[in-house]
Amino acid sequence: MSKVRTVALIGLGAMGTALAQAFIRGGFSLTVWNRTAARMDVVVKDGASGAKNAAAAVAASPLIVICTIDKSVAAALLQQADVASSLAGKTVVNLSTGSVDEARAISKFVESSGGSYIDGGIMCYPRDIGKPATSVLYSGNAAAFEEHKEALAFLGGNVRYLGSDPGTAPTIYLALYAFYFGCVASFFEGAALAERAGVTPEAFRETSKIMLEVLNEALPDATRRIKSEDYSGEQASIDVHHAGQLVVRDAYKAENMVCKVTNAYIAYLERAQKAGDGPNDIATMYRAVKSTP
Ligand code: NDP
Repeated sequence: MSKVRTVALIGLGAMGTALAQAFIRGGFSLTVWNRTAARMDVVVKDGASGAKNAAAAVAASPLIVICTIDKSVAAALLQQADVASSLAGKTVVNLSTGSVDEARAISKFVESSGGSYIDGGIMCYPRDIGKPATSVLYSGNAAAFEEHKEALAFLGGNVRYLGSDPGTAPTIYLALYAFYFGCVASFFEGAALAERAGVTPEAFRETSKIMLEVLNEALPDATRRIKSEDYSGEQASIDVHHAGQLVVRDAYKAENMVCKVTNAYIAYLERAQKAGDGPNDIATMYRAVKSTP
């Protein structure tokens, strides 16, 4: 069981409301505050206490979870004089999206106000909050994380603490979403082309499992090659990938459709070719991605 059974939650949008409900289900004594007061009604009906302002919420608990639209809103709330003056001895867990610099600056502010700061990134939609397999990334004050990790596990059972630098969790969070949404966008591009052949998005999704399996094999191979600098192109060279992708692009052109992900992929392949990696494995594209524009 968590050592701390009292939580304050600031921000009750789609995600904050799901977080609140997870704490309520977990039996926590929960105080909430949201700028638009009416949004507190649902969770107050479920057993939370509604605070009259952010300072009152912060005063009500040793653990404060913030889930506002972005980190700049979270920072502005924490810097309100009546909030800042009651941060001493409290732990702030900020799950709002924002930059790495913002995370470090908020951490500095909270810690210099006598509080402890943990930054975080939620790796799911609200519907998956509270599930054992759901991942939430954290980094920041190690002692505070140790103290509150059982409470935080109620939000997502796969609790990933990435170290004491509050900038680590937002960096990995942003990188993972770049990866995920690149996949989502390319899935939609594929589905749109498939539809021209009468295949529904649902049927294409079923067929796309073929490529998820290929991806599951390809990513470990690529990272192994990057680590060992084994770029031999015996499977399929950058040049072979490039020739194939021009055919993919032509298929979209023939249908008068956009294919921005394919175009981006071709651009990376051409950077790799320019660097002399044409005969080498696709893993060399990583160098093209990292090279300065
Ligand atoms: P919503 O738009 O549903 O909610 C935004 C919240 O921020 C509301 O509580 C809103 O208050 C508050 N807010 C906005 N501006 C201000 C302000 N100036 N002062 C005080 N409060 C303010 O967003 P979500 O709940 O979906 O997202 C919250 C955070 O979680 C974001 O950083 C998002 O990137 C992150 N996240 C969301 C995911 C999702 O699937 N939804 C997934 C992973 C992360 P009010 O009600 O008054 O407008």
